[in-house]
Amino acid sequence: MSTPKIVILGAGYGGLMTAKGLQKELNYNEAEITLVSNHSYHYITTKLHEPAAGTSHHDHARIPVQSVINTKRVKFVQDRVTAIKTNEKAVHLESGKTLAYDYLVVGIGSAPETFGIKGLLENAFFIRNIDGVRVLREHMEYSFAKYQTEKKDDLITIVVGGCGFTGIEYVGELVDRMPSLCREYDIPLEKVRIVNVEAAPTVLPGFDKDLVDYAVKYLESKGVEFLLSTPIEECTEQGVMLKGGQEIKAATVVWTGGVRGNKMVEEAGIETMRGRVKVDEFLHAPGFDNVFILGDSSLVFPADGERPYPPTAQMATQQGQALAKNLSAKIRGREMKPFKYEAKGTVASLGSKEAIGMVGNRKLMGGSASFMKKIIDMRWLFLLGGISLVIRKGKF
Ligand code: FAD
Ligand code: NAD
Repeated sequence: MSTPKIVILGAGYGGLMTAKGLQKELNYNEAEITLVSNHSYHYITTKLHEPAAGTSHHDHARIPVQSVINTKRVKFVQDRVTAIKTNEKAVHLESGKTLAYDYLVVGIGSAPETFGIKGLLENAFFIRNIDGVRVLREHMEYSFAKYQTEKKDDLITIVVGGCGFTGIEYVGELVDRMPSLCREYDIPLEKVRIVNVEAAPTVLPGFDKDLVDYAVKYLESKGVEFLLSTPIEECTEQGVMLKGGQEIKAATVVWTGGVRGNKMVEEAGIETMRGRVKVDEFLHAPGFDNVFILGDSSLVFPADGERPYPPTAQMATQQGQALAKNLSAKIRGREMKPFKYEAKGTVASLGSKEAIGMVGNRKLMGGSASFMKKIIDMRWLFLLGGISLVIRKGKF
């Protein structure tokens, strides 16, 4: 029998952990492993709110893929996947090439969920990848730069749609960024408006109340306005229209209202719910024993729960680690083990010195939570590139 071909799509948390696990588990002659991703670098999605606000350079949130894999064991192809053809057992690439597989691992992440809200895709910015956050930061800075000549308040008004973790972490970075940005463009800090709009009656719906109260109090003390129970109904070139007819004029509108699975997965004829695939305990796509889905493209339910786990880097990482072991076992004709997710907690930054978090049963707020967040960031660097990457890229 010829050497089995494993093709991994996406160099995100799930894809990279699978590739790194496989290169460790399997011998040279046991499988041909190919990792395909549309950028030459892995971007640390969990840090994107920083370059989006301009509190750090985007190079702090990316790492060349080839520097963290063993390129003798895993072939890296920089290309965009345009279609997954399960009937041909192949994926099609933007370059016109086709890659055949025996086993396919799909880790191409998520896309913004816009719920069909008019004008969002055309007029809002998204915190999804390096290209997007670079444009967002430049746009915000250009709007601030124009303020002295045009004197229009909407130029220094930023609306963030959604008070989930992405919205809150981004707003936390914005309050850190504003003093220096305002100094740079001679704008009185109190003139800037940061408005975080949420459809639900609370910030961070479902999260611990004490931690939410801490975050809201801290961010409000820095001038953030929260508008709750107020869904955004339309985004225009001038700003947003809210339920009830109120308009907020803003040059910068950032949508952090949720995510859905990558469209390419549903286009592959794989059964999905809002673009995400309900995988079995081995992470198989339904009906396929050679296609595995992980990360934000997958849906995993707790054994006794009706609501799926939220899509997180923590989940994608654990799935990648488990899948590498299972795929190696499968190739060797051994039993695979069911994947069990272990929730280790949630920590969200509120800028560089403040954070909130729940780790086990412990509630963390302020400096201790911020310290924990930095440890979590370092852990990812360690998993990717060991201590040398932590030293090169880690930030306290
Ligand atoms: P991703 O990490 O998104 O990787 C997908 C990969 O696929 C990328 O490399 C991309 O380039 C590639 N790709 C996409 N489309 C194609 C294509 N067509 N062809 C080729 N390649 C493609 N989660 C946490 O657990 N903790 C946090 O603190 C946290 N903070 C976050 C902060 C922010 C600002 C955001 C936006 C998210 C945060 N999350 C956090 C969520 C977390 O980032 C995601 O759940 C995680 O990135 C999902 O990993 P993934 O491997 O599924 O996909
Ligand atoms: P989310 O779905 O968690 O939050 C989106 C928020 O937008 C919700 O509160 C929702 O009610 C609100 N919303 C939806 N429609 C709206 C509308 N029309 N107007 C106003 N508000 C609206 O999405 P997210 O924050 O992007 O997070 C995505 C995933 O990434 C989640 O699983 C999250 O846990 C994870 N994440 C984790 C961290 C962390 O652990 N530190 C940070 C960021 C993201």
